[in-house]
Amino acid sequence: MSAASSALVLFSGGQDSTTCLAWALKRFERVETLAFDYGQRHRIELEARLAVRREIVARFPAWAPRLGDDHLIDLGVLGAISETSLTREVAFAVERDGLPNSFVPGRNLAFLVFAGALAWRRGIADLVGGMCETDYSGYPDCRDATMRAMEQALSLGLGRSLRLHTPLMWLDKAETWQLAERLGGDALVDLIAAETHTCYLGERGLRHDWGHGCGICPACTLRARGHAA
Ligand code: ZN
Repeated sequence: MSAASSALVLFSGGQDSTTCLAWALKRFERVETLAFDYGQRHRIELEARLAVRREIVARFPAWAPRLGDDHLIDLGVLGAISETSLTREVAFAVERDGLPNSFVPGRNLAFLVFAGALAWRRGIADLVGGMCETDYSGYPDCRDATMRAMEQALSLGLGRSLRLHTPLMWLDKAETWQLAERLGGDALVDLIAAETHTCYLGERGLRHDWGHGCGICPACTLRARGHAA
């Protein structure tokens, strides 16, 4: 297996990372997936991701043979050093500095360091992540400039050229739904609505046309609005 034909997707089991997984399955001969357990309140996403992988194999025969190993890395230490609404039972709010309190400082930076290390060990030179600076709530670790800097830092620090693909960087949520439709048609849009998890509160609850979730938290609001658009 040549490294150039393999990719490692940061795959949390949400709408964005599932769209990225489909994007990678279209382009690479072998695609591995990676998630992190950092004590997130919406831990249900860790189960959703297995359901997504299962359904992709069942519904997309062309992609099924390309879907490789799945990896789960324990980053509980992130929850230990951050007091945020994603890792603690506190309400969502916007802090004085303008950042939502769902911001886990350094989260994507830490994710990428471990993803890079895993990719190095697996002989993979292409990382794929759903970071986006269009609907990004102001998280500084989702910005394109941050990603380009990390790509360079990882390539230098690992002593191997590593590409970091962020296909959603300039898309809003409506365009992300559209991208899913282009990649996998109605079947993929249905799969994303039915199986992925985005709600910050970890609520499955009612099935709306855009999927499951509380319908009120920032993640649900974005997803629902994008779907309607
Ligand atoms: Zn929600």
